[in-house]
Amino acid sequence: MKSSQSYFKDCDFSSIKNSLVILDIDGTIVPHNGTEVLPDELNQINFLKENNNRIVIVSNNVDQRRNESIAQALDVECIETGYRKPDVRAIGKLVAQYSSQSLFVIGDKMLTDGLFAKKLGGVFWGVENLRSKEDSLGVRIFYFIDRMSQKIFY
Ligand SMILES: [Mg+2]
Repeated sequence: MKSSQSYFKDCDFSSIKNSLVILDIDGTIVPHNGTEVLPDELNQINFLKENNNRIVIVSNNVDQRRNESIAQALDVECIETGYRKPDVRAIGKLVAQYSSQSLFVIGDKMLTDGLFAKKLGGVFWGVENLRSKEDSLGVRIFYFIDRMSQKIFY
């Protein structure tokens, strides 16, 4: 795991090439429940695409319409299975085609994205969570618990 914890927009993804990139939405490319991806995040996604990566969105957000519309705006795949990260069934059979060196999970939460990467045998690229003033108390508490868990895991 990268421990620098930069925001997604500030990460140097130049080492990710020819890989499967499983991308989180909430707290990673938009604030929780966000609907609009801003140009900085969009540029990063285009950069990942230019390096021949296959980008697949896997979100635990129950608002599938929102997930799909973001995926569509980014022109990337979106997998909806009814399973939630870190359950490996959330990605289906896709991973079998990729080696552990070419499978990345980019996300803001250790307890979902981090464990997901570990179970899939891939690399977790943790990013700083993108927050909003509108984040609910529940969302804030989850971020807090997740940060505590990172201290325990690493
Ligand atoms: Mg997230």
